[in-house]
Amino acid sequence: MPRIFSGIQPSGELHLGNYLGAVKNWVQLQETHEAIYCVVDYHAITVAYDPDVLRRRRRDMTVSLLAAGIDPAKATIFLQSQVPEHTELAWIFNSVTPLGELERQTQFKEKAQRQESVAVGLLTYPVLQAADILLYRADQVPVGEDQIQHLELSRVIARRWNAAFGGGADYFPEPQALLTPTRRVMGLDNQAKMSKSLNNYIGLLESSEQIWAKLRPATTDPARIKKTDPGTPEVCNIYHLHRAFSDPGTVERVATSCRTAAWGCIDCKKVLHQSMEAELTPIRRRAAAIEADPQLVEDALASGAAHCRAIARETMGEVKERMGLA
Ligand code: SF4
Repeated sequence: MPRIFSGIQPSGELHLGNYLGAVKNWVQLQETHEAIYCVVDYHAITVAYDPDVLRRRRRDMTVSLLAAGIDPAKATIFLQSQVPEHTELAWIFNSVTPLGELERQTQFKEKAQRQESVAVGLLTYPVLQAADILLYRADQVPVGEDQIQHLELSRVIARRWNAAFGGGADYFPEPQALLTPTRRVMGLDNQAKMSKSLNNYIGLLESSEQIWAKLRPATTDPARIKKTDPGTPEVCNIYHLHRAFSDPGTVERVATSCRTAAWGCIDCKKVLHQSMEAELTPIRRRAAAIEADPQLVEDALASGAAHCRAIARETMGEVKERMGLA
């Protein structure tokens, strides 16, 4: 099976944006690929943070991933900081990465603009990302379109290192983008991408009541002022959530009922809530079972890290040998 690598920030409990945008797809990919999924805590420290909060968020993210369906018997899940070779290889890649390439990265420019003092780690973040992927010599990386530039840099770094030290062979495969059917999930304000910092999100593990309390006032098509005003489902986030959670027949009914003003937005949201419950209830149950047995999280992370360390040690052995460091 082709090997894939993907990382996720330890941002605590998953919200529906990152569940629908990435993790739901990861659950499918673990059936067809040798999947390595990493909670990238070293990436999280490139901006100011609170150590206790980070510790809790790493754990909550792991619980969310397991509850969402990542199965440690099928996929590897681990914390980045438990495999020190990530930073070791990143240092080596720093030595073959031109500064200009890093300064051109869109995400760096955007993030740096928002900060008074910019840590070097923010600049070299994509180098660590390249090390994350190449340490496992992953064939493919499931990415959304906004991540393609970083992946391209990983490919450049692989090429440069191979040219300098590969001895005429491509030791590091250039990882291919596995463009996943990622959804750009809008927040409940229908203004910006769903995110915790904008407080426009629904948490994956929120209760049925909490979800309804957020869905009920969520923004819809502004043209539907009165119940008799027809709407355009495509401009409404509730419709896009239906497409993610409801069956095709229901999605069609939503579109027709919206266009013909056959129902009001609250009716539409009630049906969405039911569809969401069908998918999220088993996830919440799994999360409760995991919370009741904390050893499950410890064991999954420990065996994931042990598996990754074995691969990482082998890669670093080869790398050091070829670079005159061993
Ligand atoms: Fe959105 Fe549904 Fe209202 Fe149409 S009926 S605007 S799809 S919530």
